[in-house]
Amino acid sequence: MAQVSINIATGTIQQAELIIGIDLGTTNSLIAYINAQQQAEVINDMGKGVLVPSIVHFHPSGELIVGNEAKQYLIADPANTIFSVKRLLGQSYKDIQSYEGYFGYKIIDDDDQAMLKVKVGDRFYSPIELSSFILKELKLRAEHALKTPVNKVVITVPAYFNDAQRQATRDAGKLAGLDVLRIINEPTAASLAFGIGLDPNEEKTIAVYDLGGGTFDISILKIQQGIFEVLATNGDTFLGGDDFDALILQYWLKELKLDPAAVYANQNLMQSLRLAAEEAKIALSTQSIFNTTVQGMPCGIMRSTYEAMIQPLIQKTIDCCQNALNDAGLSIKDIDQVVLVGGSTRTPILKQALQAFFDQALNDHQNPDEVVALGAAIQADILAGNRKDILLLDVTPLSLGIETMGGLMDVIIPRNAKIPTKAGRQYTTSIDGQVNMKISVYQGERDLVSENRKLAEFELRGIPAMPAGFPKVDINFMLNADGMLKVQAKELRSNTQQEIIITPTYGLTDEQVEKMLLDSMVHAKEDVAKRMIIEATREGEQMRYTIESFLKKHGQLLSEAEINQTNDLLHALNHQLASGDKDQILTAIDAINEFTRPFAERVMDQAISVAMKGKSIE
Ligand code: AMP
Repeated sequence: MAQVSINIATGTIQQAELIIGIDLGTTNSLIAYINAQQQAEVINDMGKGVLVPSIVHFHPSGELIVGNEAKQYLIADPANTIFSVKRLLGQSYKDIQSYEGYFGYKIIDDDDQAMLKVKVGDRFYSPIELSSFILKELKLRAEHALKTPVNKVVITVPAYFNDAQRQATRDAGKLAGLDVLRIINEPTAASLAFGIGLDPNEEKTIAVYDLGGGTFDISILKIQQGIFEVLATNGDTFLGGDDFDALILQYWLKELKLDPAAVYANQNLMQSLRLAAEEAKIALSTQSIFNTTVQGMPCGIMRSTYEAMIQPLIQKTIDCCQNALNDAGLSIKDIDQVVLVGGSTRTPILKQALQAFFDQALNDHQNPDEVVALGAAIQADILAGNRKDILLLDVTPLSLGIETMGGLMDVIIPRNAKIPTKAGRQYTTSIDGQVNMKISVYQGERDLVSENRKLAEFELRGIPAMPAGFPKVDINFMLNADGMLKVQAKELRSNTQQEIIITPTYGLTDEQVEKMLLDSMVHAKEDVAKRMIIEATREGEQMRYTIESFLKKHGQLLSEAEINQTNDLLHALNHQLASGDKDQILTAIDAINEFTRPFAERVMDQAISVAMKGKSIE
C-alpha cells in the first residue's frame, strides 16, 4: 500500500501522483486523467469506449457484470439489472416513491427515514454498494489502461445534490477502495474543462446547460478568485435525449400504423425501434433526412418534422433557464458565458434556441459527453499539487461528525472540505418523551465512532417531551479559517439551544492524520459491513417498536388470525435481530411490513368514521 502523505496546512498530497477524475453518471460514467502532455484525457480501456454504462447485473451464475456487458440484461432480466442507481443515492423510499415504477427492480419500502435498499434475489443492497460496484469497474479500467494502481479520485455530483447524497457518493468511493479526495459539482468540473475559473483574477457569472440522456440541469455559477459559488440550479430529472428518441419512436408507430400495445409487448421489436430512433436523432443533427428499415419495415423521418416535435421539450429547458436566472436574481445580460454539457446539446436546433435565449454565442468547444470527467481530472491534478500556479485554499484534513444511534459516525463536514465552511443536519429523538440529547463530536474516517477521535461531548437539555421522531434538532458545524469548530444544537420547536467550541487539529501530528487515513482505507469494507448490520438492527428494532405499539393501541381492529400472524412475524424478526445477519433481518422487516401495511388503512378509516359521527351533515 502506498504511503499517503498529506500536507495538513493545504490538504495537498505531497509527492506528485496520479489522481483520476470520475464522472459518475446516471446513465454512463467516465474516467479521465492528466496525460504526459499535461492535457486532460478520457480513458478508453480495451477499446470498450469511453462511456461505461452505469449498470450492474447480478447474473444467476453469481457473477457481477458491470458496464457495457450489463446493458443487454436491462430487457432480458430487469429484476436483476440495476440502472440509474444515482437517482437512489442518499435517498429514502419516500423520496423516490412517486417514480418507483420507473425502475425495473425491487426497491424496498420500509420506514420513511431510513435510506432505501434494493432487493436482488434474497440479498439487499444499498445504493452505496451498487455505486461502489460501478466505481470498482472504473478503477479497474483506469488501472488497466494506465498500467498503474489508482487509489485517489475526485468524483463529480450534480450541483443540487444534498449532503446525504454527497456523503453517499463518498462512501461508495471508499467501499470501492478509493480515497475520495473531493466531491465536486458537475457544472464546476465542466467550467474547469473549459478553462474557466483557473485564473484567480477572473470574475465571471456563467450558465452551465447540461442535457444528457435522461436528465436536464441548468446551473448558474459565480466564479471569483477560483471559488465557484452555485447561485441557482434548476432542471428536470426526467428530461433528456431519451425523450427525443421516444418522440421519433411514437412518430414511426403512427406512420406504420402499429398498435403501441403490441409493440410494447414485443420487446425485441421495441428495442430495435428504440435504437433506430436514437440513430435517427443523431443523424438528424447533421443530415436533413434519415431512412432505415427495422425488421423489414421502412422507418424514415425528415429533420424538419423531428425539430418541430422536440420544440416543446426545448422550450421546457429554456423555461428552467429562466427560472434559474430568476432564482439567482439575475438577467440574461449578467451571464458572461454559456457552457454546454451532455450529448444532447449536439442538437443544432437546441443550440439555436439557446443562443437566441441567452443572446450570445455558446461555449461548445469541448466534447459535451466528456467535459465533466475532464474537469474532474483537472481538479484532481490541482489537488495533486501539479499546478503550482493555482492557489489551494485551506482544507480540513479529517472528517468531522457526530455519533448517531448504534455508535455510528455521521459525517457533517467531510475531509478536504475547504475552510471556512459550515454544514448542518437535522436529527430527532428515538424514544417517546426524550428530553435530553447527548451530542458527541468526533473526528476521523471510520464508520464506527469507537475507532475515531472524540473531540467533545455536550448535552442539549430541556427538549419538550414529545413522541419519538417529533422534535427537530438542528446540529450545525461551523469551522472557521483558524480551524476552530463551533458546534451548535438547537431544537426548533422549542428554541432550546446549546453550543461548544473545539479546535479539532489540536494535538494531532501529521503522522497521526496519515495513520487515521490509512486505517480508514484498510478497514473500509468491514466498516461498511458493520455499519449495515447496525443500521438493519436499528431499523428492525424501530419496526418492532412500531408494531408493538400498534397492537397495543389498535389491536381490536385486527382479527385473531391477523394478531397471531403478526406475533409470529414479530417472533421471526426478534430471532433474526439476535442472529445479527443483515440480509435475514431485512427479509424479516420486509415480511412484517408487507403483512401489516393494510392495517394502517383500517386505523385511518376508523378515525374518519369516528370523526364523522360527531358531526351532522346537513
Ligand atoms: P450523456 O448522458 O451526456 O452521455 O448524453 C447522452 C445523450 O446524448 C443520448 O440521449 C444520446 O443519444 C445523445 N446524443 C449523442 N450524440 C448526439 C448527437 N450527435 N445529436 C443529438 N443527440 C446526441
